Amino acid sequence: MKAAELVRKAVRSCRAGQLLDRETLVELLDIAPDSEGALLLRQAAHAEALRITGGRGYLWGALGLDNAPCRMSCRFCSLGEKWRLVRQPKVYDDAEVLRVFQHYAEAGVHYLVLRTTEFFSIEHLCRLLAAIRGLVPKSCELALNTGEFDLQTAERIAAAGGSCVYHTLRLREGTDTAFDPQTRLATMRAVQASPLRLAAMVEPIGPEHGNGEIATSFLGLVREGAEISGLMARVPVPGTPLGDTQMLAPERIAQITAALRLAGSGHTPDICVHPTTDLTLSSGANVAIIDMGAIPRDTVPADKAWRDYDCERAAEALQRAGWHQCQ
Ligand code: SF4
Repeated sequence: MKAAELVRKAVRSCRAGQLLDRETLVELLDIAPDSEGALLLRQAAHAEALRITGGRGYLWGALGLDNAPCRMSCRFCSLGEKWRLVRQPKVYDDAEVLRVFQHYAEAGVHYLVLRTTEFFSIEHLCRLLAAIRGLVPKSCELALNTGEFDLQTAERIAAAGGSCVYHTLRLREGTDTAFDPQTRLATMRAVQASPLRLAAMVEPIGPEHGNGEIATSFLGLVREGAEISGLMARVPVPGTPLGDTQMLAPERIAQITAALRLAGSGHTPDICVHPTTDLTLSSGANVAIIDMGAIPRDTVPADKAWRDYDCERAAEALQRAGWHQCQ
């Protein structure tokens, strides 16, 4: 099928509120990222994104709380204990954490995300959630991105003030990670069974991941109940086993963004992309990501916004792409 025809088919499915079939999603992902067809795809995805969201764009502000070796040693993560890349161990103290989230809230960030390594104390996170909840507007989503837990813990997280959990089944989970994929799925299902919303992106995408793999991952995440999705491109960190691979080109990241937006339709109204660029925000993404603290894509913690992509820059980028920033 020609690209224009494919895009029309995907738009029809998107407007009907349907999750796109895998075969068509793979065909969208097969379109050459620098072609006329990809331009059509990105424009269509942007238009559908504006329609689905009513033009509402959001900032996602994350803080990595612990720059500490993690014994899961995922093959792409700078914090993996086996790679010995953590030279300045640091755990942000509660006062620093509250300061960062207050700053995020004052800058209009909607998704406030506390990210940790795998075995961080849930009790500590619940205490922080309760304190942050008291500081920020009610409309803010308070999210955790941490290790594995069961339904009872998910309910405690919700009772402490959390509204959302980021947890995903990564690409090649069990091969590039030491996790049993069923363990990751069990946590996602605990989130789903609780009052919390599930956020899950296709990640971390590298050049070796085929379009079939990407499509299967995305459709699987949506079927698991992910309401907030998108993608994260892998940033190769020298010294990790996948550190000598290439990062995806910005055009390819934008093309995947567009394909996932049309595929998810109203099932995934908020589409986030890491790293966020002007191109992703005009290709179907409506969420811009700001990162601070311990960063699994870097070897030093970011006390200011990672790579200088701060709230101000992200807000300007949203506006340039036609989004109305909401909190
Ligand atoms: S990705 Fe998460 S679980 Fe894996 S090594 Fe890094 S911090 Fe640990």
